[in-house]
Amino acid sequence: MSKPIIYMDHSATTPVDPRVVEAMLPYFTERFGNASSLHRLGREASQAMDDARQTVAEILSCHPHEIIFTSCGTESDNLALRGVALAQRARGRGNHIVTTAIEHHAVLHTAEDLRDRYGFDLTIVPVDRDGLVNPQAVAEALRDDTVLVSVMYANNEVGTIQPLAEIAAITRERGIPFHTDAVQAGGYLPLNVDDLGVDLLSLSAHKFYGPKGVGVLYVRSGTPLWPIQTGGGHERKRRAGTENIPYIVALATALRLAQEEREAETARLTALRDRLIAGIEARIPDVQLTGHRTQRLPGHASFIVRGVEAEGMLMGLDLEGICASSGSACTSGAQEPSHVLTAMGIPRRDAVGHLRLTLGRGTRPEDVDRVLDVLPGIVERLRAYAPSWA
Ligand code: PLP
Repeated sequence: MSKPIIYMDHSATTPVDPRVVEAMLPYFTERFGNASSLHRLGREASQAMDDARQTVAEILSCHPHEIIFTSCGTESDNLALRGVALAQRARGRGNHIVTTAIEHHAVLHTAEDLRDRYGFDLTIVPVDRDGLVNPQAVAEALRDDTVLVSVMYANNEVGTIQPLAEIAAITRERGIPFHTDAVQAGGYLPLNVDDLGVDLLSLSAHKFYGPKGVGVLYVRSGTPLWPIQTGGGHERKRRAGTENIPYIVALATALRLAQEEREAETARLTALRDRLIAGIEARIPDVQLTGHRTQRLPGHASFIVRGVEAEGMLMGLDLEGICASSGSACTSGAQEPSHVLTAMGIPRRDAVGHLRLTLGRGTRPEDVDRVLDVLPGIVERLRAYAPSWA
């Protein structure tokens, strides 16, 4: 008989909340109109989108016109980086972009593409051992021709939360647009764009109990932005393509619910996370927490387990019904350390033993107990077979 599933991979994705499914379903069937149509079905769709935009704008504390709906977090990041960099250069503002070494590939590969294929200069700011960006290091990276700074809100692999407001104070003084990838933060951290000081912010619904394939880009009024997808005049000519009304309704509903329940859920998850971290540190020798101990996402626990490779741990946990993940991927039969762990100064031989356990709405105290019961045995068995460890 298969074991009941314990899902500890909420940073990868979350299940869609049934309340969100209920809100979105009518827009597939009886309210299926195209928001550009003038007839009643079109007006109904357009109204649903306006309401969703208003909901998101209230949560971000911005004007509804500053919200662009996209097809995912990756698209939001692409639109932010490419849209601002190209528009700024066309205005003669310069040719230099600044980002950090621990960004998700949606940002990092886009910045590198702008460098390699579009001729931008790129500075990649390093991080410390906890995965924290030093605002002073960002200040030192800025040049007179810097057109954009992008620093993520919270890291997907190690959970560290960045000091965005401090960085924003620096970029604002220099008049440089500041983007943050808030995809991991969306369901858990405050999103008031004025408090954060950001000019652009990316979100993705599937990280906060909405569906995959819908995102948001917030763009502060006055920020130069070229569209990267042209066609019709949708989203005030900033993102062409017939709007996905069911998913837009779902995103707004999911974000509202996540933010309404945020305080209580943060307290609950932080307590569970800390119990999981303390339990693993107490029961497994030679384990190191990765990311900042307190300045981290509420449900995020991640470790280096020395002497083992991630794949073995993930397979062992999977046999017990526990879904976990690792920042280090297995490519062509070899474990490849992630760029995030490498940037934090973790040596390759340790980085391959990265384990990420991310808790969420469905996680109960007994799930944490179960992981604490089975993980030490899995690690012990793997270490017994690792000649280098012996
Ligand atoms: N940015 C971060 C920090 C992420 O964790 C992810 C998804 O894992 C993305 C961007 C990409 O979002 P999406 O899956 O919606 O394209």
